[in-house]
Amino acid sequence: MEIKIEDAYYPFALRASDYVKHSGKSIESLLDGEFGKAVITRAKERVIQAIQGEIKNIFGDKKIPTEIDIEKELFSYPVARIFVSCIGDHYLISRYALKEAEAAHSHMKDEKPKFLEELSKEFKIQCVRKKHDFRIHFADYLRFGSRMHEPKWKLVNRRLEDGYVLVTKNDFTRVLQEAIVDRIKSSLPLDVSPSLEKAFSPYIAEINEHFEELKAEFGSDDFGDIYSECFPPCIKHMLALVQAGQNLAHSARFALTSFLANIGMGAEEIIDIYRVSPDFDEGQTSYQVKHIIGSSGKAYTAPTCATMATYGNCFGKEQICDWISHPLSFYRKKLNYSAKSTRKEDDTGEETSVDSTTNELSKNLL
Ligand code: SF4
Repeated sequence: MEIKIEDAYYPFALRASDYVKHSGKSIESLLDGEFGKAVITRAKERVIQAIQGEIKNIFGDKKIPTEIDIEKELFSYPVARIFVSCIGDHYLISRYALKEAEAAHSHMKDEKPKFLEELSKEFKIQCVRKKHDFRIHFADYLRFGSRMHEPKWKLVNRRLEDGYVLVTKNDFTRVLQEAIVDRIKSSLPLDVSPSLEKAFSPYIAEINEHFEELKAEFGSDDFGDIYSECFPPCIKHMLALVQAGQNLAHSARFALTSFLANIGMGAEEIIDIYRVSPDFDEGQTSYQVKHIIGSSGKAYTAPTCATMATYGNCFGKEQICDWISHPLSFYRKKLNYSAKSTRKEDDTGEETSVDSTTNELSKNLL
């Protein structure tokens, strides 16, 4: 099988994974030799770049890559997936999947429509090519288009013909980007053998350092008097997705915005949280946030746990969740307990963190 530059640009595609499978090279074999060393170094760089915001095109615009260059780039993808799996953090997986998909998207604009049509078949997107534009079956359009927040993605703003939605090549590649995110995310984390994990441990440690820096930035005290460590798991999850640059469904955006507004966060701070979204639109986000907060300053109340569950937004339930029916109650209870712990700490001089007291808190709620 002949290797092509597309295999490096779209390493998650079936053709590329077939090439890796039939190459006769195992991951273990990469642990020795110059080729393997270059692959592992690039894999590490790939994940670090994803953490830092962009997986760069290693070939740049100038050089015509050799077959070996293409192979190294292609093989760095499965190794990068192993690195991400060893860390196993949900937030990192989401961010990595998004950045890989964005890197692929940056190449798609130069691809011929025929190539994109073939690629879309892998993702079971029913489409018909219409010269340089595309028509996507409306069910597939909704599957991915509903995540986009610009008005042009609303079905009412599209031309619908015989069950197919007309989109430009640019919009079609944006839909493909979402499909790629799903494919990468749903396949991670991988089961990594302890021996492989041990062999890769220095690289994983280095990646972890960068990841910890990012988490520290995210967890920094941006919320003033708001205690993010007391947020319920569903809200933490949504924040992690937004911070990973992922678009939230409308119901999740409403839940997150109203929750933050209910606990006293201002409109501008909330808008800043969404600033990292791939489709961030200052005017539209500002309009939505201010609408939820309300001109009188009386915000909509955040949805109950039952509503959260109905829309698939109840995520990562903790024990406390069994005793509450509203995410705000979760926050209040954890906050109250945190205050009690601090008082106890003042009395005894012992240090008691909010997280370490979760089990004790559950007992107190019984
Ligand atoms: S039970 Fe309620 S607070 Fe807990 S994760 Fe689900 S929605 Fe959030």
